[in-house]
Amino acid sequence: MEQHDCLIIGSGPAGYTAAIYASRADLNPIMYVGLQPGGQLTTTTEVDNFPGYPEGTDGNAMMDDLKKQAERFGTDVRWGMVTEVDFANKAGDYHTLTIDGETKIQAKTVIISTGATAKYLGLPSEEKFMGFGVSACAVCDGFFYKGQEVVVVGAGDTAAEEATYLAKICPKVTLLVRRDQMRASKAMQNRVLNTNNIEIKWNTETVEIQGGQSVETVVVKNTLTGEIENIAASGFFVAIGHKPNTDIFKGILDMDETGYLTPTLGKTATNKPGVFAAGDVADKVYRQAVTAAGTGCMAALESERYLSEFH
Ligand code: NDP
Repeated sequence: MEQHDCLIIGSGPAGYTAAIYASRADLNPIMYVGLQPGGQLTTTTEVDNFPGYPEGTDGNAMMDDLKKQAERFGTDVRWGMVTEVDFANKAGDYHTLTIDGETKIQAKTVIISTGATAKYLGLPSEEKFMGFGVSACAVCDGFFYKGQEVVVVGAGDTAAEEATYLAKICPKVTLLVRRDQMRASKAMQNRVLNTNNIEIKWNTETVEIQGGQSVETVVVKNTLTGEIENIAASGFFVAIGHKPNTDIFKGILDMDETGYLTPTLGKTATNKPGVFAAGDVADKVYRQAVTAAGTGCMAALESERYLSEFH
């Protein structure tokens, strides 16, 4: 069986940043890229808020650059999914991972950067306009809709936060809430209710998104009256939650009730020795490429320190 010092699961900004640091520290990391190589950024078009790109960059191009940077220092980037984990309980022992349901591989440290997946409504028109008006991240993409009217779907803290964020740069934000109440915390709800340019449409669901090259109209339906309405908007922000990609760690690693990993406060170390968590898989609050990259760096540094104790 192959044995390594460091294995990284997932290839978003957290995974690649961990790879850059780990390979520069001579940990010779192996990375398995997972189902969505490059992670969530590959589903957006322009990235304007990652430091160091004064003109902005394309999400896919940025992930290609991160991959090249990690490979330049020797990261072994491999296609494949980690489908099972058997984490050791004793510090210094090897962890055993299964790749694609068949190959077993061992590593002394494992960095989990499997990310989270934004939930979407599942409408065909939503998929059609993905990256062309449809987004699941207002902080990432909202800027492109400055001065334009937008729609946000959802009623949790994320939807409330995204709606208030967008209301600062857009003349009108319509918030579609499927029930007659919001799930968001009272403080967040009050912020939404007290923002003049946010209109809440209660008991309202999305029927379809229409447009030419990009989003132009959102067709909605009142679930009580059946009334259909067309809302003019160039942005459609889906904020109905994320699902952390942690299914294979259930019952093994500490996680909260929604499945996010819960490493030691201020660190990336999980409850298993030599297993670290970085990026959105352990972050339901910030969820930014730059914060993911930051925790990826932390995970690699913690890995290096951990390994130095057992060599
Ligand atoms: P939540 O799961 O809390 O909320 C999802 C919302 O989306 C619910 O209101 C739900 O409606 C609605 N929804 C789900 N499916 C659909 C659908 N098909 N159509 C329309 N609406 C739908 O997710 P969040 O991302 O808002 O929050 C996740 C966690 O992160 C929470 O614990 C939250 O508190 C936390 N968070 C904290 C923040 C902070 O502290 N600053 C910021 C953001 C998130 P319904 O209510 O009817 O089920």
